[in-house]
Amino acid sequence: MANPAGPTDIVIFGASGDLTRNKILPALRGVAAAGRQLRLIGAGRSEPPDGGWQQMVAEATGDRGLADSARWYRLDYDSPETYSSLQHDLGDDGPVVFYLATPPVAFDPIVRSLSELGLTRKGDHWRRVVVEKPLGTDFDSARRLNQRLMESFEENQVFRIDHYLAKDTVQNVLAFRFSNSLFEPNWDRTMIHSIQITAAEAGDIGTRAGYYDHSGAVRDMVQNHVLQVLALTVMDAPTTFDPVDIRKSKLEALRAVQPIDPALAVRGQYDGYLDTPGVARNSRRETYAAARLVIENWRWEGVPIFVRTGKALRRNVTEVVVRYRDAPHLRIGGQRQPGIPTLIVLRIQPDEGVLLRIGAKRPGTRFEMVPAGLKLEYKAFTRQPLPDAYENVLLEVLAGGHTMFPGGREIERSWEIVDPLIKAWETSGHPDTYARGSWGPGAADELVSEQGGGRWVASGDEPGTQ
Ligand code: NDP
Repeated sequence: MANPAGPTDIVIFGASGDLTRNKILPALRGVAAAGRQLRLIGAGRSEPPDGGWQQMVAEATGDRGLADSARWYRLDYDSPETYSSLQHDLGDDGPVVFYLATPPVAFDPIVRSLSELGLTRKGDHWRRVVVEKPLGTDFDSARRLNQRLMESFEENQVFRIDHYLAKDTVQNVLAFRFSNSLFEPNWDRTMIHSIQITAAEAGDIGTRAGYYDHSGAVRDMVQNHVLQVLALTVMDAPTTFDPVDIRKSKLEALRAVQPIDPALAVRGQYDGYLDTPGVARNSRRETYAAARLVIENWRWEGVPIFVRTGKALRRNVTEVVVRYRDAPHLRIGGQRQPGIPTLIVLRIQPDEGVLLRIGAKRPGTRFEMVPAGLKLEYKAFTRQPLPDAYENVLLEVLAGGHTMFPGGREIERSWEIVDPLIKAWETSGHPDTYARGSWGPGAADELVSEQGGGRWVASGDEPGTQ
């Protein structure tokens, strides 16, 4: 067994890439500042990046000590013999985190080589592996990847990153639901009219055509972030807040979510997508997806659940909108009052917080109802900026916690939910085009209204939610 007191070696495979430069290294600055002793080892098929790996570490982390101890190893991932210097450098004692920051095709050869050399040490939880999304491209590939990981590691050595889960505000969905006895007793079909989850981005795909044109909105967002947020929103209370119990509850919730019916889904592609360098001519890849989901269990039977995500949309917003059943609309002075649905908005980004939209009496002599909001601004809790999600993720990996990481079965189940949609869309015509800066194709509005959800709600646009 390793000596947990020593510095942790973080071996980043694919360390010359964007993810390492823009996300992992800057987050490690915060991790090192939190007092964790680290040594950063970059690995790749190529020579160290221009200027050298130590220079890259110094620039991204601003930590000279971290840079001076950094090392680079050039590997042929398929050939275990090329790992001998790295193996020697790691030694036997210290904790090691293997971070797979390569495209997924490299996961299998890297894990196989590490395993052949005995570096994975199945069962030793001081040897850990971090795997970046996408975790597979469908159910079969996700299962193969999980099987490969499970041959070489125990489940508690594996950390599958979905950095959305590491956002404080996503974790706060659990805190909000299960530390307030007010909401939980009516968080079900008896009181809830519908649920909407929006994960909208204003930006387009930028320079990521190579990845995105093979992936699309369902694989990029729905299979992972959106379904994880949904699981936290609809799951039953876990027995404890230990990661194992939270995962169990999330998996149970996802098992009740039915595979998406393509007839209850809408796809779109933003105007101009096909002109992006790197996008295939006549690409049918969706940059927008919306769907009605069906949950078959006692809590949610009959409650329509809607999700939507896309690029080049009106603005950046990720939120859950829970709409309660309407109160009876009473007549006042012979006039029937317009309904003001009660909404709970769990806003994940930006302007993180929780908002309760209620009906209130307009001040004055007339008895008239108007929408009004009760708001928790998450930032008001702390004078510090909210921690970066990657920093949270890395601190959790070093601590050996699993709350922020989906389990292997959750990921496989999520693919089972989206696979029918992906298959149907890969063999059908071109998606509807939508205008940049809009909320996506009009067909998505029809979907919500035909399926009993009323209309899409975007907090900020909705009276009482500003
Ligand atoms: P890159 O495409 O930049 O690849 C990272 C490095 O991996 C490259 O610099 C290259 O290094 C190596 N590499 C490239 N192609 C292959 C290949 N076919 N086989 C083996 N190695 C290869 O990826 P990113 O850094 O952008 O992302 C890394 C991973 O993280 C990907 O799986 C991505 O999907 C995921 N991800 C990325 C995000 C981001 O913001 N960039 C966000 C969320 C997830 P070398 O030539 O030195 O071996």
